[in-house]
Amino acid sequence: MSDLDRLLRDDLRGHVPYGAPQLDVPVRLNTNENPHQPPASLVRDLAERVAEAATALNRYPDRDAVALRSDLAAYLGRVTGQPLDTDQVWAANGSNEVLQQLLQAFGGPGRTALGFEPTYSMHRLICVGTGTRYLPMPRLPGFRLEPESAALVVREHAPDVVFLCSPNNPTGTAVDPAVVEAVHDAARGLVVVDEAYAEFSARPSAVRLLPGRDRLVVTRTMSKAFAFAGGRVGYLAASPDVVAALQLVRLPYHLSSLTQAAARAALAHADDVLATVAAVREQRDRLVEGIRALDLEVVESDANFVLFGEFGSEASTWKGLLDRGVLVRDVGIPGWLRVTAGTEAETGAFLEALEQGLRDAT
Ligand code: PMP
Repeated sequence: MSDLDRLLRDDLRGHVPYGAPQLDVPVRLNTNENPHQPPASLVRDLAERVAEAATALNRYPDRDAVALRSDLAAYLGRVTGQPLDTDQVWAANGSNEVLQQLLQAFGGPGRTALGFEPTYSMHRLICVGTGTRYLPMPRLPGFRLEPESAALVVREHAPDVVFLCSPNNPTGTAVDPAVVEAVHDAARGLVVVDEAYAEFSARPSAVRLLPGRDRLVVTRTMSKAFAFAGGRVGYLAASPDVVAALQLVRLPYHLSSLTQAAARAALAHADDVLATVAAVREQRDRLVEGIRALDLEVVESDANFVLFGEFGSEASTWKGLLDRGVLVRDVGIPGWLRVTAGTEAETGAFLEALEQGLRDAT
């Protein structure tokens, strides 16, 4: 063991970092981004607003990002039909940072967070980073959750935080609002519904369940449908008390004035940007049909990706696709891989590479 290994926290030793490969290949369908670039009108507006913000870069940004949170509250209220005040919304550098702040405030050493596996790997990793004990629980067949059984598990383990992910990464399955209600009723702690992919789903958002539920938190991101992954903005809606708690743990001035200005520009162009969602959903449905036509299994998805299998060796299928210039995600579920809906051309290239690979393997 090296000196530094000895100095590292015991509970971090031996862990590997989050690491979706960032490879320079023609078709990258491994990180669930929106494949459509921001519209030119947004890029122009954003550049102007960032230039204006740059004239005041000698000053710290608005520590509480009030204008951005107010824009986010208006957007989320509009798309969910649930009016939200600015003090119910909090923003940070990606929803990963929002999740981390939630665990810094409500998890931590001596506390537990429960998640239903397979789910977004960062839920577990953020637990590791914050010293929160993670409790992995299984799903029902077909990666489903039902209100009664989910509530039972939550009541039994009484965690400080429960994660529900809807639509769930990597399965694409949405969580019924009845599950959220039942889990919230059964929980003594915070219930965090991670809705990173909500804009791709036709199901109602858990934001509608916020009134009267002070322990319910809904996290969202601008990284997916909003085509703003490089901008790094995630946010949540919850009771003002949750937002006040996060202000205890956030670093001062965590959101740069450039980020705040750029995100506000993107929100001002929300309708243009989100017009791409229909095209992405179309390609997702094409993926489902195309993969099924190859006699493979696909999990029904409400998101912009699908989980497909089953392969004797998912690693060799992954490598076969990569050799044909297509990068998908090995999410660590034996026999399964995940692919993101791309542009029409990218989705076509994936389906073709998959078919060729299967043909060559037989
Ligand atoms: N939640 C889920 C379910 C995700 O899949 C992701 C990104 N892969 C995130 C949160 C975090 O995204 P970001 O930090 O870019 O907002």
